[in-house]
Amino acid sequence: MMEKAADVVIVGGGVIGVSIAYHLAMKKAGRVVLLEKGQVGEGSTSRCAGGIRTQFSTEINLLFSLESLKTFEQFENEFGVDPEFRRIGYLFLATSSKDMQIFNKNVILQRQYDIPVELLNGNEIERRWPYLRTDDIVGGTFCPWDGVAGPSEVLTGFTAGARRAGVKIHEGVEVVGIQAKGRKVESVITKEGEISTGVVVNAAGPHAAQIGAMAGVDVPVKPLRRQIFITAPFRITDQGIPLTIDFHRGWYFRQEVDGYLLSGPLDKEPSFNLHVDYDAMAEAVDHAIYRVPTLQNARIARGWAGLYEISPDHHAILGRVPEVEGFILANGFSGHGFQHSPAVGKVIAELIVDGKATTIDISPLSIERFSRGELMEEPMTAFRE
Ligand SMILES: Cc1cc2nc3c(=O)[nH]c(=O)nc-3n(C[C@H](O)[C@H](O)[C@H](O)COP(=O)(O)OP(=O)(O)OC[C@H]3O[C@@H](n4cnc5c(N)ncnc54)[C@H](O)[C@@H]3O)c2cc1C
Repeated sequence: MMEKAADVVIVGGGVIGVSIAYHLAMKKAGRVVLLEKGQVGEGSTSRCAGGIRTQFSTEINLLFSLESLKTFEQFENEFGVDPEFRRIGYLFLATSSKDMQIFNKNVILQRQYDIPVELLNGNEIERRWPYLRTDDIVGGTFCPWDGVAGPSEVLTGFTAGARRAGVKIHEGVEVVGIQAKGRKVESVITKEGEISTGVVVNAAGPHAAQIGAMAGVDVPVKPLRRQIFITAPFRITDQGIPLTIDFHRGWYFRQEVDGYLLSGPLDKEPSFNLHVDYDAMAEAVDHAIYRVPTLQNARIARGWAGLYEISPDHHAILGRVPEVEGFILANGFSGHGFQHSPAVGKVIAELIVDGKATTIDISPLSIERFSRGELMEEPMTAFRE
């Protein structure tokens, strides 16, 4: 039976929704209900590559990474689930001095936060990662703090923690409307009935704009398909391999069990298309063989497609909206939502319960930045990774 009333209703059961649910419960936010139209995690979260990094270009993204790292480090203690967090490092490769300038600037900022990022020249990269083609490499950066974790393990930890703390999670319940009285949220309408509430959180991932429209709010988030391919068991080398990004191509690869995960292209046109296509596989393989020639002996075993939730400046859109009181956004992560989910849950719970996010000042991520023309730049974006 679905509740008739709640203090907070969260729309969307991806890693963002369940993290917010967990953190709200920890802060004793009252009756918290999460509604998921399918199964928890079935959206972008289950299609995510699990990458976690501190190598961003803006202070706000760095703050979300550093705060989230604290949770990934002690996840098992807090949630009783091993998140499979492995600090394999991220290696960014530059093939032009223009890209190297971006890296140099990033490193200055990252070191201000004591992030142990290394600035490397082409010779050093060739020496340390000899399986890489390096004749076109100008330089790069490597950070040993970065790594990967398991999206389904992290999702399970948050979900089980939220349930244990009393959050009601309903799967198979689609939100079809949001009622407001005057300029204040009053209820959420689903196919299973209506829940009266004063607070609704939009955690619908690539569907954020649709939920925004239900409340009369224009949430500028577009779904862009990204494809991923996995090789059959194959060994490039016995040494550990970092998540390696060919920055100018926006191509990356990392180890995945006994084989490798290769990124495919990111669509340019928004859609909810989740098909995997041959051309995308061919492009991923071309990029792979170019950078790691020995991969020409590997075979692609499978692939999948998922949706990035892209905002106009590739930064999240977090917090209240001017149009409707009680409508809260946790959207637009632009391909970084998994790694920032712990901090997002924390700050949104603070905003709802305490009236203000204190762990990180989220005002730069307000939706009002778009109408004010205060867009941010993040060159280390999903388009590159
Ligand atoms: C191929 C790929 C690789 C990625 N790699 C990385 C990575 O390495 N690192 C990283 O940090 N991030 C990565 N991401 C991004 C990351 O997956 C997302 O940022 C993150 O999962 C977003 O979580 P979410 O909870 O906002 O969205 P989702 O997981 O999509 O959850 C939203 C949920 O809302 C539900 N929903 C929608 N509409 C309704 C409705 N009307 N009623 C009820 N429920 C509704 C959906 O069913 C869905 O389950 C990747 C994404 C893709 C596609």
